[in-house]
Amino acid sequence: MGARGGSGLYVGRRAAALVAAVLLALLAALLALAALYGRCRGEEAPPAPPSPPDGTAGGAGVPGDPPGVPSWRRLPRHLLPLHYDLELWPRVRPGQAGPFSFVGQVNITVRCRQDTRAAVLHSAGLRSRGAAVRGPLPEPGDAVRGPLPDPGAAVEVAGLRQEAAGEVAVLELRGRLRAGRRYVLQFGFQGRLEEDLDGLFLTRYTDQGRSSVLIASQLEPTYARTVYPCFDEPAMKATFNIRIIHDPSYVALSNMPAIDTSEMRDENGSLWTVTTFNTSLKMSTYITAFVICDFDYVTRTERGNEIRIWARKEAVKNGYVDYALNITGPIFSFLEDLLNISYPLPKTDLVALPDFGAGAMENWGLMTFQESSLMYLPSDKFTSRKAMIAIIVSHELGHQWFGNLVTMNWWNDLWLNEGLASYFEYLGATFVQPKLSLDKIFYDHVVQPVLREDNEVGVRSLSENEDKIKGSFSLISLFDSITYNKGASITWMLSGFLTEKLFIKALNSYLKEFSFSNANQDDLWTHIQMVVDAQDEVQLPASVKKIMDSWTCQNGFPVLTLNITTGTISQEQFLNKKNENTSTDSYNNTWIVPISWMRNGSSKPLIWLDKSSNFFPEMQVSESEYDWILLNVNLSGYYRVNYDQLNLKRLVHLLENDPKAIPAVSRFQLLDDVFALTQFGYIQIETALELTKYLAREDELFIWNVVLLNLVPENLESTLKNYEVYPLLKKYLLKRMLPIYHYYAGFIRQNVDALEPDYFAQVYLEKLFATACWLGLQDCLDLSSELYTKWMDNTQYKIPFLIRRTVSCYGVALGSDKEWNFAWEMYNHTDSTKEDKDILLSAMSCAKESWLLHRYLQYGLSDTLFSSNCTSIIISYVVTKDIGHRIAWDFVTENWPLLSERYGKELLHDVLKVMGRFVNTDVQIQELQVFYNTTLEEDERVTATLLLEFSKIENMERRQLLTKVADWLHKNVDD
Ligand SMILES: [Zn+2]
Repeated sequence: MGARGGSGLYVGRRAAALVAAVLLALLAALLALAALYGRCRGEEAPPAPPSPPDGTAGGAGVPGDPPGVPSWRRLPRHLLPLHYDLELWPRVRPGQAGPFSFVGQVNITVRCRQDTRAAVLHSAGLRSRGAAVRGPLPEPGDAVRGPLPDPGAAVEVAGLRQEAAGEVAVLELRGRLRAGRRYVLQFGFQGRLEEDLDGLFLTRYTDQGRSSVLIASQLEPTYARTVYPCFDEPAMKATFNIRIIHDPSYVALSNMPAIDTSEMRDENGSLWTVTTFNTSLKMSTYITAFVICDFDYVTRTERGNEIRIWARKEAVKNGYVDYALNITGPIFSFLEDLLNISYPLPKTDLVALPDFGAGAMENWGLMTFQESSLMYLPSDKFTSRKAMIAIIVSHELGHQWFGNLVTMNWWNDLWLNEGLASYFEYLGATFVQPKLSLDKIFYDHVVQPVLREDNEVGVRSLSENEDKIKGSFSLISLFDSITYNKGASITWMLSGFLTEKLFIKALNSYLKEFSFSNANQDDLWTHIQMVVDAQDEVQLPASVKKIMDSWTCQNGFPVLTLNITTGTISQEQFLNKKNENTSTDSYNNTWIVPISWMRNGSSKPLIWLDKSSNFFPEMQVSESEYDWILLNVNLSGYYRVNYDQLNLKRLVHLLENDPKAIPAVSRFQLLDDVFALTQFGYIQIETALELTKYLAREDELFIWNVVLLNLVPENLESTLKNYEVYPLLKKYLLKRMLPIYHYYAGFIRQNVDALEPDYFAQVYLEKLFATACWLGLQDCLDLSSELYTKWMDNTQYKIPFLIRRTVSCYGVALGSDKEWNFAWEMYNHTDSTKEDKDILLSAMSCAKESWLLHRYLQYGLSDTLFSSNCTSIIISYVVTKDIGHRIAWDFVTENWPLLSERYGKELLHDVLKVMGRFVNTDVQIQELQVFYNTTLEEDERVTATLLLEFSKIENMERRQLLTKVADWLHKNVDD
């Protein structure tokens, strides 16, 4: 599945533990990239709920099962599927009202491996319309009895039992199925078509002013069983003949090309179309797919592969899918050439669905996407949108090899699908968007975010024990950042130390061996070992399995500590030293670490650390301050580095004199590492600050972004605006920001289009400008007023997208009611997009006159001025502002009875989270508690008080930290 795009399934399981900076980075990236989300909570697509136990399932759980306790289990191996003949008939006509259902028939040819009197397969939420078993089928050596193929005799069915909790159907037989023979299991069934985005589902949408419906499917990981009875495990591959019956005005799509359409009449004599698809290749059930719609498409052929991009007619007519069409063929060819294995299907359909839970899904030959993941609006001119589409399309195309052709044996090795697809998505995307820098974007999107997440006791390892992964719930939780981003980072490291040439050679061997079949992690290691053994250029310190298992089978990652006086490198798991550490695995927390390194600017041969610490004489440096060492050059490994003070001093010196001597990605790593080391108690904040001294010479926006997210996190802006820190920070940072600020401000004033190819400007310029304005840089404030006034004078004028949020905020902040009223007018303007509305909603909270904020909050209460779900958004915007937080709090307490009646506890929870940041003293806690006493239940009061105590401790720690920062700034502000 696709990793991004607001997927309900892509759940960062440690999200709660992420530091604010990372959340903000993600938020900034999402806002800039997607720009397509609902403006207020409640308008977003609801998360897909787990399918409820279906009353129509034809039977309760197994007698004796306690109700509601899942008894999920793997299927027995008595029967293995060879081929499915599947017919699906959604009973949907255009314009018809629901409820809707579908009926179907599936005949599954199975091979019996062990004598049995029961057939056990998956089925969930389906109502049976009859079941039968025929066989044994004649085998090639059997005597031929007649001119027609013998369908086999009937095997008498004793009963069909549905185990709802286990999601299986058990077909009990009076006769015995014999090992070695083939049988056909026949099931008629019926299911409900809901608008739930799982299984086979229905979506309503508008196209060319008309409302329409479509039917589509999403079967990964275990929804195939809700569409047809099947052997729904990834290793139980089979071929499929699929037939779909549908209204004649729709087109039906599936994995394979349609080979026939015919007509039929139903019991009422009404006409339907029957579309029959060619026999598929051997594949897993979770990548079977069905779409029935009234879409248009654009098409082109690449090396005999017919590529069609389907979307709403309006979108196709407007050219919104042309970009996707232009890149899909080239990425296919790029991957075919790189992997040296042809795409085996004759066609590929990519469908832009108006509503879709996952960002995208790689179904073989019929990929499905959210519209926002596939559509590029020619008016946009946003490289960032193009980059996102290229990345998502590449990811799904990567799956055609990693996932569809070769599939993981079981979900515990899901990273073999998702990690590898996430690695190749960047190769494919930078191939079609060569201006994107592969290593910068890979580190920024993939490695850095997961390093921030994979550092707590309890975070799982990349590859799990097979027995641990059971049940649909634990499967869904595997589609997380560990699987995608750690999987891709480990792959990057592997390719790095093997060399890309050997790595690709090994993948080719792996893909060939397991085509149309399944593999586990060890199979991949074996094929890499084979290519390593067949050459002598690359020497490894241990077997591939031993090296790689240390990264995939234990959780977390190491931090290396380098002492350049002794030449010693040691490793330990990177964990928060402020918490209690617990060792959780059997590897004693050592990794076999490839270390690429550099001394005084020249790259050195790769070395390995394969124990907890080792001595490297070549890393002992001289007295000269020009003798320095840099480890993990260009993100070659999945770890952090903690340098000793001597080396850090030399690196600080080097950065001030010649920052380009260190590659950009390594400068990024260096800064990201020192801030992370500070947060986790390895080093003092002063050390991290030393590394920011050189920033006047830093011209890379993605590096500035990581510094600003650490120094000026958005949620702490009010806290940082204290009299001790703010003036010093202002002086110190502005001095360093001016060069890069003026560079970009020049483009904004004169030729903003020239920034179109600059990806990082598209996603990170906003943070730079927001900080410059926050620090009171006069030019930034002037620019904001200037552009905002220009907009007020001519509503056709568009403030450059890159800094629209900042300009709107400061436009309102620097103005009076005239500017505020204009924002209000524009917010209510019918042409405003959702994103514009969100920007304006936020901008109106930037007002500096308190009466405007009072009035804004009051507007928020109105039923007629706002849709009701905006109220809490407005409050949370106002409460984060300097002058707003007190105003918002008073407003909440005064209006509590009304707010609580309308919006319940959730609103209070949101506001309390923000208020918690301002709690420093017991007096303040008491003040909040007085309010709780009248509003909360007993148990809630206890929880809330605990949260406040926790916030108080956090805030006190932060104050201590800020005191240190202020002291350091005092000493260094004039440097
Ligand atoms: Zn995927």
